[in-house]
Amino acid sequence: MAEPTPMLRQYLKLKKQYPGTLLFFRLGDFYELFNEDAIVGSQALEITLTARQKNTPNEIPMCGVPHHAAGNYIAKLIRKGFRVAICEQTEDASAGKKLVNREVVRVITPGTAIDEQLLEKKEPVFLASVAGAGEKFGVAFLELSTGDFFASQFEGKDAWPNAVSDIKSYSPRELLFPASVGSLVQQSFKDPQIFGYGGEKATPMLLHEQDKNTLSNISITLTQLEEETYDIDVASRTLRDQFEVNQLDAFFPNGETQAIKASGACLSYALETQRAAAKHITEIKYNKSSDFMILDAITLRNLDILESSSFEKASKRSLLGVIDQTITGMGARLLRSWLLRPSIKRSEINTRTSAVAELTDSILRDKIRFLLKEVTDLERLVGRLNLGTASPRDLLSLNHSLSKTPEINLTLSDARSLLLQVLAENIFELPEIQDLIANSISDEPPLNLTDGGIIREGFNNELDELREVSKNAKQTIASFEAREKERTGISSLRVKFNNVFGYFIEISKANLSRTPDDYERRQTLTNSERYTTRQLKEWESKVLGAEDRIKELENELFKEIRSAVTKETKRLQSTARALATLDSLASLAEVAAQRNYVRPELHEADSIEIKDGRHAVVEAFSDYPFIPNDLRMNNSTDRLLIITGANMGGKSTVLRQVALIQILAQIGSFVPAKMAKLPLVDRIWTRVGASDDLASGRSTFMVEMTETATILHNATPRSLILLDEIGRGTSTFDGLAIAWAVAEYLHNSQEHSAKTLFATHYHELTELAEKLPGAKNYQITAKEKDGDIVFLHKLEKGKASKSYGIAVAKLAGLPIETIARANQVLEKLEQYELAVFSDKQIIDAERGLEAAVGQAANDRLASQVSLFAVSNETIIDDLRGLDVSKLTPEESKEVLSKMKKDVI
Ligand code: ATP
Repeated sequence: MAEPTPMLRQYLKLKKQYPGTLLFFRLGDFYELFNEDAIVGSQALEITLTARQKNTPNEIPMCGVPHHAAGNYIAKLIRKGFRVAICEQTEDASAGKKLVNREVVRVITPGTAIDEQLLEKKEPVFLASVAGAGEKFGVAFLELSTGDFFASQFEGKDAWPNAVSDIKSYSPRELLFPASVGSLVQQSFKDPQIFGYGGEKATPMLLHEQDKNTLSNISITLTQLEEETYDIDVASRTLRDQFEVNQLDAFFPNGETQAIKASGACLSYALETQRAAAKHITEIKYNKSSDFMILDAITLRNLDILESSSFEKASKRSLLGVIDQTITGMGARLLRSWLLRPSIKRSEINTRTSAVAELTDSILRDKIRFLLKEVTDLERLVGRLNLGTASPRDLLSLNHSLSKTPEINLTLSDARSLLLQVLAENIFELPEIQDLIANSISDEPPLNLTDGGIIREGFNNELDELREVSKNAKQTIASFEAREKERTGISSLRVKFNNVFGYFIEISKANLSRTPDDYERRQTLTNSERYTTRQLKEWESKVLGAEDRIKELENELFKEIRSAVTKETKRLQSTARALATLDSLASLAEVAAQRNYVRPELHEADSIEIKDGRHAVVEAFSDYPFIPNDLRMNNSTDRLLIITGANMGGKSTVLRQVALIQILAQIGSFVPAKMAKLPLVDRIWTRVGASDDLASGRSTFMVEMTETATILHNATPRSLILLDEIGRGTSTFDGLAIAWAVAEYLHNSQEHSAKTLFATHYHELTELAEKLPGAKNYQITAKEKDGDIVFLHKLEKGKASKSYGIAVAKLAGLPIETIARANQVLEKLEQYELAVFSDKQIIDAERGLEAAVGQAANDRLASQVSLFAVSNETIIDDLRGLDVSKLTPEESKEVLSKMKKDVI
């Protein structure tokens, strides 16, 4: 193979510096991809794969996209999980120059994307990072578009699962990690391939499977960084430099080493990819688990907090979907973050709820919401200012937003609640910025900085003069054309312009004989000739010179204005945060007013007392009226509520509605009830339904037991536990035995006893209420009418006698024969069960569970024999009805072989 060309050498050198990315190499008006990048890129983008030096031994696969349309192509690749390095020409391709300089100006990755096309208005895009080993892991999350930056550290036996759960709850698009954590990451995030960013690997492919455990359907791109990036000294320095401090104590209360490592690496990756100072990242918030109610990824999903688990992509059918009536993207994102981490600080919650209460006044609320409609997403705009991507139009919309602040502040001036008063103090009007933008940026600036027309007339003298020259010169050229037409007598003569030849005179072939001698020929076309003259050349240089300078000057001036505005980052961020908070509070008030929610009381007692509570999401989406329910529980007499009732009766609904009311109360919202007195809850645990986790090799039952184990090990007396069926994934007796033991443990444990709502179809568990002082039976009522079931959805004291499973199966449309047969089998089973249970008295409250467990093995055998007998009942019936005397030998053989088949 021959030596690569200089350009290819340049390409290969850059490519080596950016492994793990698709290198977009700028060649004139195109970005080209070569070699393996071209193969992968052309497939991912569905564009044609061509080749350079085709049909030669030096053939190189190649594909390309036009630079003006690159944004869409890049967005497509990023959405698929790739990283893209943008390589630009950094000098003009002037004549005679063989190879222009090229540099990678930005690397775009799923977690660092800030382009409008890649951002969802109401959702954050997090870049996550993890560090640590053994029993200590640190995590960090950076939202580059707004500068939000968080970290935490987990310690102890469950450090890794807790870190994973925290990562999943943020739904990051990209996760950074050092090689030392690689195998753990791979196991927990099930990504088939991981590619180093700074390492040797040059393959850009990034395939990933949908991670079913993530909250959103976006999969995570896994990015392995050099160990060195996670070095504590390097990481600390990166953070100190960014925050301009000598010590990190203010951010990390106990010098959490792993959290510092994760944060430093996260920031350095973001800065490296952006090639910008990102000064809007001004602080990192250390999340102490004792500062908020913990909702792990499983609970968020089980309770449909951010999106519905049962409706694909139906984020509206979630708690967030119901309560998000925000106007601005920043308000929506803030509300979402409150739901992810409800507060556990009484004073913080109460100040929020007081503000919501004040905003339930519709006149005040409507006014604020009306003004917020005029406010842009300031948080992200400040991000773009600091990352150097804010456009002239951004400045105009910033100005428009700021122009509304005096009115917003005036509206808040009579506010009684502390939080609204504080918000007003944090909304800055910034008149000097408003004046600067109003005086400098034209009313309709272009999208592209290079298009000109950004700066308003009268803002800069030099610019005004240059524009005058350009305008006059253009007029002169127009009169020049008229003069030349007259002089030559060629009425079709035109003075035109193009980028290659500049200004020229065009004369059609038919008129060539009349061309004057002083015309110099420049170009011959099929139907015309192009000329220039000395005078035209002079004018041209004046006009073009002025126009070039105009563009340059407009650019310079715009950047100066932008950097003057950027200097106000702190006050702009404060304004943005205050407006976002106002938006979220007004949204909660709007929902409270629309849906008839009440203000909850967060009392010092440990009891939950709810009158006429409703499920926020079921209520919002059901076509039928929701039937409210009362519920009382505490840490003493009513700490374990065993809820039985018909299938479809509403057990799961009532369980979840208690949790949702508690969560709403702790974010500062009103709640769907007539009255709610609630304690502060440190964590809500849920164990719900069945789901396989095949990719990590865990069966349905294993998942169920792992989740249950976590609850039993970690619940505290301040937790709220929802157990919606335990032990259903195994045999009846094993399941019942486990469910019994779990309920007893949660009732009796000194350390881990917590308020527990336990929905079950094991009616045997209702015996616990007689045995345990803190356990109470509740049932969801249903009635049977003419073999059909009527759901009353009412929670009452007492135990249900049956589950009406077959009646519900009938409703679901199971064939009539199947339903009839099921009823037959049920009858036999009930007879059998009665016999076993009454004879041996296994579930005897006096003897407790030990006897039940001890007998379980024998009984299982007995139950299998009995079930076998029941299933063969039809054969016995058939035999009874058979008149053997009437059968031919052939028919007898047939009947026998059918029976044999059925028995097997
Ligand atoms: P299963 O035992 O089969 O899991 P379940 O008792 O847990 O059933 P849910 O899933 O809670 O029953 O409720 C079934 C449906 O009944 C809900 O989807 C909802 O539409 C309706 N429902 C439940 N509770 C109420 C209520 N209080 N008011 C109105 N409708 C309700």
